[in-house]
Amino acid sequence: MNTWRPSESGLPTHQDTDHMGAVERDSKLLFKHATLYIGEIENRYLTGEVRRKVFRGLYKLPKVQTDNKKVLLKEGQIIYIHDIKIECILVPGHTWGHMVFLIDDKYLFTGDTIWFGADGGYSFLSTLAEDNKLSVQFLARLKRIVKGKQRSIKVITGHTGYSDDLDFAFKHIDKVCNPLSKKFYNPGAPYDGYDESDDSEEHARKKTFYENKNDCQVFYVSCQQRGSIS
Ligand SMILES: [Zn+2]
Repeated sequence: MNTWRPSESGLPTHQDTDHMGAVERDSKLLFKHATLYIGEIENRYLTGEVRRKVFRGLYKLPKVQTDNKKVLLKEGQIIYIHDIKIECILVPGHTWGHMVFLIDDKYLFTGDTIWFGADGGYSFLSTLAEDNKLSVQFLARLKRIVKGKQRSIKVITGHTGYSDDLDFAFKHIDKVCNPLSKKFYNPGAPYDGYDESDDSEEHARKKTFYENKNDCQVFYVSCQQRGSIS
């Protein structure tokens, strides 16, 4: 029996359209009724106070529009959605208010802060960052926080899969991934972040739910469904 139902809550790590598509005004509004839990700094893009810039500030991206209800989060805040614990850790750089979420002290959703190459994690793609130095600085802080937990934590990235190995995940976070260099390409990865030719709706539907969960920054939470996603 299919237990999947429209979700009630979403946790976008940041406002980029590939992470917010299902709640954008001009989309099919797959998650129309979801309350969005988003960082208060990140929300300034959505209000129009700040514009998203890439390629060293040379290009502005279109403003992302959403009418979903929002709850604004602060750095260090811990919230509960039903019985699910969510710790909010600010890691700016890719965007000014990018939030990383540690769920139940077990799953770290890093969004677009870490890029896994074949030999470990790097600071995310340089060309898409607002500020690469800031990213490196806050990733060092994130590493301290996460390692300080002294727990087994799964690191789930936005575009390059996941890892149970914290040393691997944080290995090169003082270096920024240059998307023009194949050095950062992982030939063993099941999904190639460089080649999006297979990134079709049909292909996405073939993925198992678990795979979809891993590469989805908007972490949808529904109490009734929890047994089926944990
Ligand atoms: Zn992004």
